[in-house]
Amino acid sequence: MDRHLSLSPRAQRLREAGYKLTSARLTVLHVIETSGGHVTSSEVLERVTALDDSIGRASVFRALDLFTRLSILRPTYIGTSATPTYVLMPDGHHHHMICISCNRVIEFEDCELDELAAELETRLKVHITGHLLEFYGLCDDCYNQPRPSKL
Ligand SMILES: [Zn+2]
Ligand SMILES: [Zn+2]
Ligand SMILES: [Zn+2]
Repeated sequence: MDRHLSLSPRAQRLREAGYKLTSARLTVLHVIETSGGHVTSSEVLERVTALDDSIGRASVFRALDLFTRLSILRPTYIGTSATPTYVLMPDGHHHHMICISCNRVIEFEDCELDELAAELETRLKVHITGHLLEFYGLCDDCYNQPRPSKL
């Protein structure tokens, strides 16, 4: 049986980029892909250890760093957490609208940033591999809350 048949597209990308598919890397990737897109480093560590306790903490953090470098993941600081929450970057981008009052995170898929990215690549002489876009403000519920009465 060829175990590579069941590799996720991201794992294949990793292999094509010349990285060995170690069990630490594959397990971290699996945990992140089945987490629904948002996961903190301590949650990753906990779930990886539950699946395979031979994978050490340092390997988990090295895998997270590698995936961040490859734009598979991006650390964010949603809410007040001191540790980053890693978000998956489907197609190289990820977008949030964050309510600054209730900390609700609203996801959206579409953006019109291709033109801006192309313009930045020319102007700044860079090669862009992805973006994380965060708008912040008030959600409709919070906006419509009665304001605290004035002094
Ligand atoms: Zn809100
Ligand atoms: Zn998100
Ligand atoms: Zn985008």
